[in-house]
Amino acid sequence: MQFVSTRGGTEPVGFHEAFAAGLAPDGGLYVPKNLPLLPSDLLVDDALPYPALAWDFLGMFDDDHDSEHLVDIVDRSYGDFSDTMSAPLIQLAENLFVLELFHGPTLSFKDFGLQLVGNLFEEQIERTGETINVLGATSGDTGSAAIHGLAGKKGVNVFILYPEGRISDLQERQMTCTGADNIFPIPIKGSFDDAQAIVKELMGDLETKEKLRLSAVNSINIVRVLAQAIYYVHAYMQLPQDSRDDVNFVVPTGNFGNIFAGWMVHQMGLPVDQFVVATNQNDILYRLFTTGKYEPEEVHPSHAPSMDIQVASNFERFLYYHNEKNADATLSQMAQFMSEGSIEIPNFNASNFTATHSTDEDILANIRKVKEAYNYVVDPHTACGFQDLDPDRTTVVLATAHPAKFPDIIKKAIGEEVTEDSLEALKKKKKKTFQVDGNADAIRMFIEKNSA
Ligand SMILES: *Cc1c(COP(=O)(O)O)cnc(C)c1O
Repeated sequence: MQFVSTRGGTEPVGFHEAFAAGLAPDGGLYVPKNLPLLPSDLLVDDALPYPALAWDFLGMFDDDHDSEHLVDIVDRSYGDFSDTMSAPLIQLAENLFVLELFHGPTLSFKDFGLQLVGNLFEEQIERTGETINVLGATSGDTGSAAIHGLAGKKGVNVFILYPEGRISDLQERQMTCTGADNIFPIPIKGSFDDAQAIVKELMGDLETKEKLRLSAVNSINIVRVLAQAIYYVHAYMQLPQDSRDDVNFVVPTGNFGNIFAGWMVHQMGLPVDQFVVATNQNDILYRLFTTGKYEPEEVHPSHAPSMDIQVASNFERFLYYHNEKNADATLSQMAQFMSEGSIEIPNFNASNFTATHSTDEDILANIRKVKEAYNYVVDPHTACGFQDLDPDRTTVVLATAHPAKFPDIIKKAIGEEVTEDSLEALKKKKKKTFQVDGNADAIRMFIEKNSA
């Protein structure tokens, strides 16, 4: 399979190159040149073990690894998820299901992408003989999942910047208590945007990027999208045979990566009726899908912080397909968006998306409602998925994080303490952070000194 840029200004590349580059050189995002059809037996069979499904799926896109190698990488990525199904489908009511995506090492769905990314980086380093330094900024889940994907791997050091005091204690512990000596968590005074600005400055300086052999793990890497597509098929295969028509998938959404992966697999033949974009109070995508206008506003911190976004970076991929793979049209819309700060998208209701939004009050109310109705505890992100459900449809809500990651909000909603063994164990470990001044020069020198 070849991958092309949504902006059309780059030659098609293979799997290795699309993975290594992340962003395409013309500033666009890589997408598969063609979307293959899912093998039809998948849609009638009972669930395969997760790794077996993942080999089959990734094999359709990756011609660069031989299959033995790919099987090994996939096994190492998903072999130690705590639930044998990896992504078990839980039935709450006759036509209501939850897809639990929090059985990976850091208890959020980000592990599905970043465990694979970690093993692919390791393989790339062995193949090319070139060590790399991964640099990123995080407001929580991405940083911890990236760190766990790469901890202890040879030839890679990981530098993750985060806003000191503005992520939860447990999220900080997931990043700082790994005990691995290739991991460098760096607390920065200021906000997430301040941390992100430093990363952008260093990544944007091509001389520095090359000299320090910097790589990113952000949500635009096509491999993360492919990895996330797999669990939609896995969910479908776990549905009872008589519930497989007209399924709705409800997806708590921020950067549009997770839901885009589902929509992509629908284009490959997975029968889905609606994709419901569930946003929090930062509802740029809710406004887009109800008005056709894409217009960022200021971000207001919410109870579902991993969905607190201004611009949904994966949206460009959807726009490209909405434009029927017309890269020129996508390029000019993105240029207009960047110069004017918003765009109006013509014929926007042509697709099978609907949208909801939840205030912080709604989040607390939904946690309470789900607990009372089904005796099931959802985390604040997943709670957004229970807003305005259509009771007449077979509905699968994606549970994107384990509730024990957000004990304060759960306590506030239902007065219960939720715990999880791996998080409890973390509380006894010592945090290890690196104090570096919060400016690009200081971070550059620190990476140089501690480079892989
Ligand atoms: C990242 C994240 C989201 C948002 O996912 P996107 O792919 O950015 O839309 C939702 N919930 C949790 C728990 C997350 O970590």
